[in-house]
Amino acid sequence: MSYVALSIVPLLIFNVTIMAFIQEYFLNDRISEIGPRAIVVSDVVAGFTFEGLQRAAPLSQLRQRVNIHQGQTGARFIVVDPSARVVDDTNRSMDDSLVGQTLLQREVLEVLNGRSVPPILYRGDEYVLKIAISARDNYSGEVGAVLLVDSVDDIFNSLAEIRTRLYLYSLAVGLMVGLLVLFMSHRLIAPLRQIVRVVQRMSAGQLNLRIPISSRDEYSILSRTFNDMTEKLEQVDKTREEFVSNVSHELKTPLTAIKVLSESILSQESVPEEVSREFMQDINNEVDRMVNITTDLLALVKVEQREQSLNIALTDINELVEDILKRLAPLAEQKKVILLYEEVRQVQIDADEIKLALAISNIVENGIKYTPGGGTVKVVVDSDHQNVHITIQDTGIGIPEEEQDKIFNRFYRVDKTRDRDTGGTGLGLAISRATVLLHNGSIRLTSNPDEGSLFSIRIPIRMS
Ligand code: ADP
Repeated sequence: MSYVALSIVPLLIFNVTIMAFIQEYFLNDRISEIGPRAIVVSDVVAGFTFEGLQRAAPLSQLRQRVNIHQGQTGARFIVVDPSARVVDDTNRSMDDSLVGQTLLQREVLEVLNGRSVPPILYRGDEYVLKIAISARDNYSGEVGAVLLVDSVDDIFNSLAEIRTRLYLYSLAVGLMVGLLVLFMSHRLIAPLRQIVRVVQRMSAGQLNLRIPISSRDEYSILSRTFNDMTEKLEQVDKTREEFVSNVSHELKTPLTAIKVLSESILSQESVPEEVSREFMQDINNEVDRMVNITTDLLALVKVEQREQSLNIALTDINELVEDILKRLAPLAEQKKVILLYEEVRQVQIDADEIKLALAISNIVENGIKYTPGGGTVKVVVDSDHQNVHITIQDTGIGIPEEEQDKIFNRFYRVDKTRDRDTGGTGLGLAISRATVLLHNGSIRLTSNPDEGSLFSIRIPIRMS
């Protein structure tokens, strides 16, 4: 409805304006046609005195000359003397003759008072145009007036006809435009409706839905962007589900072990001291395992909470790496792995010291864990003027090509049973990668099975 109104309102304004313009044009045309005849009359009047006029009645003779509109009643001329008394009238011989009466019409009085009056349009029973001009008696010099009264009903009849047609045309055009706009708007809105429908179903939980893309306009850009976003949402949702299922699985294994161990102690009447100690030891190991998992989970959640969890300060990377190596030296010694450190450059960077230490330490510890005795783990700290480069290289068991992408995933282990024995939770590399990404850095792995692995970390020296 508003579209139709919108299309009709301008047409209406146009019609009113154009009608006013046409009316003015016709009236001016009529004025310029009959105006000069009032002057002719005033010239005739000049040859008489006002009393003489009443007697001679020249306007009756003039009637033929000034009766200008064929087929119409014609213009009426009335002459008044200075006291506004009618002295001659083209209708003198008719019933409505005004001769002898005083004509108290505003425009006549104005002219008698020496003011000029523009032509005036009156609307009575019919539309009339009145033109009043002064008429001077050349003998006495007295000033009277000539009043010209002309019916312009013919003009208004034509105008009414034009108006009717114009409005009919406008209505037709308005309806056509309205229908066209309605049709166009429907076409424009239809894809939006479709988008809304899909979005509503998605917000109700149906994340697998996609908006069909049929056109190549802005809607398709919107739909495509929305579909991309949904895909990511779905991915996040899937990752979350996977994560929860992994956590449950990881915690369930030690819990099941504890349950079996404790039940086997409880089910026996008298358990020999050393057997129960051994079982208790196993239970204790499983509990340690669960503690490790939850500690790592908490650490991972913290780094994944993004920026707000970072506590950035100027950090001496060489010192940080040396501390890590010192801490891990007993483990390396126990495994008979040689720990090497090379400091190519001294470098200080903007970093969260504690989180970054954990990230690097995880990788060095892996190097030690997955390198057989006699092997080496070497850490190198180098930098260019934008980044610090930390490489951790071991001569250990290596990682098969197809596993290299996956080992950064949470809970991912290459060899499930063996890795569990090493005490790993499968979260270490996930924590390391999340931390490095949080520092706007990157982490790369090159590895060959049985030759060893090389982890390269790059972190920008300045955060901003
Ligand atoms: P975990 O706590 O089990 O070590 P990580 O996330 O640190 O978990 O590592 C994931 C898996 O990647 C490990 O279980 C192991 O299979 C493999 N991995 C990690 N680092 C090395 C390495 N230096 N050499 C060989 N395999 C490795």
